[in-house]
Amino acid sequence: MTSDTQNPAVLEGTKLPDIDVLSPRVSVALGQNPSLFTGPGTNTFLVGTGPKRFLLDTGSGHDEYMPVLEEAIARVGCRELEAIILTHAHPDHIGGVNQVRAHFGSLPVYKLPWPSNVKMGSPKADPSLEDSSEDQRSPDQLADGPLETLQDGDVIETEGASLRAIFTPGHAPDHLCFLLEEEQNLFSGDNVLGIGTTVIPAESGDLGDYMDSLERVLSERPAEIYPAHGPRIKDGCGKIEEYLAHRRAREEQVLAAVNAGDQDAMTMVKRIYVGYPENLHAPAAQSVTSHLKKLERDGRIRMIESGPGLMQWEPI
Ligand SMILES: [Zn+2]
Repeated sequence: MTSDTQNPAVLEGTKLPDIDVLSPRVSVALGQNPSLFTGPGTNTFLVGTGPKRFLLDTGSGHDEYMPVLEEAIARVGCRELEAIILTHAHPDHIGGVNQVRAHFGSLPVYKLPWPSNVKMGSPKADPSLEDSSEDQRSPDQLADGPLETLQDGDVIETEGASLRAIFTPGHAPDHLCFLLEEEQNLFSGDNVLGIGTTVIPAESGDLGDYMDSLERVLSERPAEIYPAHGPRIKDGCGKIEEYLAHRRAREEQVLAAVNAGDQDAMTMVKRIYVGYPENLHAPAAQSVTSHLKKLERDGRIRMIESGPGLMQWEPI
């Protein structure tokens, strides 16, 4: 799930091959789910060197994906899947689990459980969450059948690859990144993207956590990054530093807007995101709201009032 507030045309226009061999241990099959929010679609990675490999993320469950995955498996010379590993439970990552299990048998699926006290958020505010149902089931339940639990620091191994889970909340409360220890390369999920910037959903996201998570993965000094959307990132640390700088600059813009008298997020969007297409205003307002909540928590602004669909803010 992405939004590119720098250059939306790049996000919509980026093309990636359906299948690509990225390293001796890593290949990618594109999820066949392109959209404004997923860019060219979700990257699903085959990881390992043996006859059975991990599948890291599963796309949205579109029919077009399965032949691409089968071809990718054949091309890298493996015969079957060992397990599915998920970065998080957004529908463009967990959505293909049932389809892949129906095709390859009852594979184990590993992820950090979605916390029971956090709701997914409003489908209207974020079209990539359109699969989340009104009854607020856990997003984990988009996958039928059992899920195996992975925690921060767990290492999961297959022939030729050891993946270490790194708890990285902020974009989603169940988000894990994975360090491929043999390469010192990072599977970043939706935390760092090959195109655009990460959306922090208003209800289930947390910008403060997100920035802490960026610092956390930066401290691992990853070489390259394999993001869940967009092309591979050659300068992993440089990209993470760029993301942190972008968020800090945006925070200053939001603070300046509050100090200039803007009270609600959409007014600030019109000031800060001048010239951006209307269809990006709603995700931009989510991003601004995330900054406002962080600024409030940091004691730099205060909330005037909060009602259904309206939050207003003022300087301290
Ligand atoms: Zn996501």
